[in-house]
Amino acid sequence: MKSLKRIAVDMDGVLADTDSHFIAWYYNIYGIKVPYEELLGKPEGEGFPEKGAARKFAFTPGFFRTLPVMPGAIEAITELMKDYEIYIVSAAMEFPQSLPEKHEWLQQHFPFISWRNIVFCGDKSLINADYMIDDHPKNLDNFKGTTIMFHAAHNANITHHQRANTWNEVMALLKSDN
Ligand SMILES: [Mg+2]
Repeated sequence: MKSLKRIAVDMDGVLADTDSHFIAWYYNIYGIKVPYEELLGKPEGEGFPEKGAARKFAFTPGFFRTLPVMPGAIEAITELMKDYEIYIVSAAMEFPQSLPEKHEWLQQHFPFISWRNIVFCGDKSLINADYMIDDHPKNLDNFKGTTIMFHAAHNANITHHQRANTWNEVMALLKSDN
């Protein structure tokens, strides 16, 4: 039997729509609706008027548990699981309180993913797979396989990884590579 290729899939900014969530939380707490365009090309969370607010949100209980699912992610992962081994790889240790929330979030939205295929870690350079789908160049830069950078506001100006703006584009890139 031919072994399936492995894809390491990130959570924040890839399975979960972190940019929209930051904007929504900022609006709820500060009453200011920051336009998405304001965040383009700025380090994650730094496009908001109150510096450090986004980072504070990321340490607030409930933030990760209530993230919206990235449009098309559930359908895409369901489809990809037919042809690939999918691993969810999240550098969750940066926000230790997020671990149970991320686990519950996956159980709610992606209940078909086994615990064996969930990797909560620190540095992703240890990860070995055929593909990595991630929004952060720092994770993709050290990866030995094929990289797909999922579009996020903070990576808008990064050009040294192939970009997918949507889950449909991820599917098209994977199809063209096989
Ligand atoms: Mg991410």
